[in-house]
Amino acid sequence: MQEHMERPNAVAEGVLARIKAAVGTKGYTTDPGEIEPHCLSWRDNWRGWVPMVVKPANAAEVAAVVAICAESGTPIVPQGGNTGLTGGGQPHADGAEIIISTSRMNKIRDIDTVNNTMTVEAGCILAALQDAASDANRLFPLSLAAEGSCQIGGNLSTNAGGTQVLRYGNARNLVLGLEVVLPDGRIWDGLRGLRKDNTGYDLKQLFIGAEGTLGIVTAAVLKLFPKPTEVQTALVALPDPAASLALLSRAQEAVGEQVTAFELIQRRAIDFVVRHIPGVPDPLAQSYPWYVLMEVTGQGAPDSLRDTVEGILADALEGGDVLDAVLAANRGQGHALWKIRESIPEAQNYEGQSVKHDVSVPLSRIAEFIERADRAMEAAYPGVRCVAFGHIGDGNIHYNPAQPIAHDTAAKGSDFAAEYGAINRIVHDLIAELNGSISAEHGLGRLRRDEARRYKSDVEMDLMRSVKDALDPANIMNPGKVV
Ligand SMILES: Cc1cc2nc3c(=O)[nH]c(=O)nc-3n(C[C@H](O)[C@H](O)[C@H](O)COP(=O)(O)OP(=O)(O)OC[C@H]3O[C@@H](n4cnc5c(N)ncnc54)[C@H](O)[C@@H]3O)c2cc1C
Repeated sequence: MQEHMERPNAVAEGVLARIKAAVGTKGYTTDPGEIEPHCLSWRDNWRGWVPMVVKPANAAEVAAVVAICAESGTPIVPQGGNTGLTGGGQPHADGAEIIISTSRMNKIRDIDTVNNTMTVEAGCILAALQDAASDANRLFPLSLAAEGSCQIGGNLSTNAGGTQVLRYGNARNLVLGLEVVLPDGRIWDGLRGLRKDNTGYDLKQLFIGAEGTLGIVTAAVLKLFPKPTEVQTALVALPDPAASLALLSRAQEAVGEQVTAFELIQRRAIDFVVRHIPGVPDPLAQSYPWYVLMEVTGQGAPDSLRDTVEGILADALEGGDVLDAVLAANRGQGHALWKIRESIPEAQNYEGQSVKHDVSVPLSRIAEFIERADRAMEAAYPGVRCVAFGHIGDGNIHYNPAQPIAHDTAAKGSDFAAEYGAINRIVHDLIAELNGSISAEHGLGRLRRDEARRYKSDVEMDLMRSVKDALDPANIMNPGKVV
């Protein structure tokens, strides 16, 4: 328990007693030791308190609890794996809310390999769904570093992206139907496995990416895809981000949608990884300014795409877009190349403070964004170590300026964090100018809520508030987040 974490309880005992009766002894905890991890965020930068974490067993129990909360005006924080990074899943500190965790609702209700769908409960861990799809000789392509602990309800509520958006789209594109408990306690059964359904508003899309502010997702019908039988993974060295986009065009012209992942990595990020992550060597004999991790997948025999990928890289090398490349000889080497990419966030933590951005711009503006952002940051903070990496194939860049070396002392370390707002302003103003988004993947939560107000038009904010007011007029569903 953090010393300064208080344990206020502003929910009436009568309300807590009714919730206990609705879910039974397995369905809740009031033990401070069990409650605490639900109230802290993964990076420990959001903290709050609730007097009770409720863990319903099914949608009917969720509905019963939400109905009690609606009647009593008790705010609810829905929670999945609690891996979100924006404070959306953590309660406020006044003890006036309860958390509803979906962790016990983890059944796969159905896998239909003819319809290519899987009907699952919100609390299923993402990695478990990938495994279940694979066991049925299918692919569920949503994949991200938190997949061992995040839950599909949380993935859908944040419209998660990850490494394969380029080929399969983000979470929004992977859903055919939803079951949702509404803020008044009614259950909306929209669990339809249809690829065509033009019967009015597409209601499920309202709840996807809503970060728990419009209702609690309790189940979903997910799309399945043929499982790739052939994977080629290459780490490619490049002179600059523009060359990476030329390589992407070249690869897509050659193999179309088979380009499944395309991740940009700045040299500085590789330096951080090699310096701090044991067992990760420099991938190429020489150092280059930029790299791309490219994955091409298909349904053919193993290595059937190898010649094609080698041809793409050879042409790009000749054309000057590519400086060097390594093509993984097998899956093990492919995983080793992915480890470099996946280790960047952890490695950057060892380099002192950094200010993280999760932004997107149209692909055609990416090179300009990085160049102008670097220039503006260097002018404002001489010696700043900007790190750009991410899902460049989707226009999504994690742009994380790290403190200058001069700030590396304990005494000066905190200075850079104090610049958080000013650095956000430089980066987000540029993003707005380039018609981009200040949150490509992680959502708004509390972290970016006020920033979104700054950059969205009055009309767009009005529309968002109208939707919230229509579905949750009493504002009990995750209040203070998103809008
Ligand atoms: C190491 C790491 C890597 C990551 N990489 C990526 C990445 O590549 N791409 C990406 O998009 N994201 C990434 N994320 C963030 C990711 O989107 C979220 O971690 C994940 O999708 C959230 O799932 P969760 O179950 O942990 O949800 P939580 O963190 O519990 O909740 C997230 C939000 O959804 C709401 N919510 C949760 N469950 C429900 C529900 N059933 N109904 C309604 N609302 C609900 C919560 O109230 C909260 O607002 C990463 C996170 C980590 C820690």
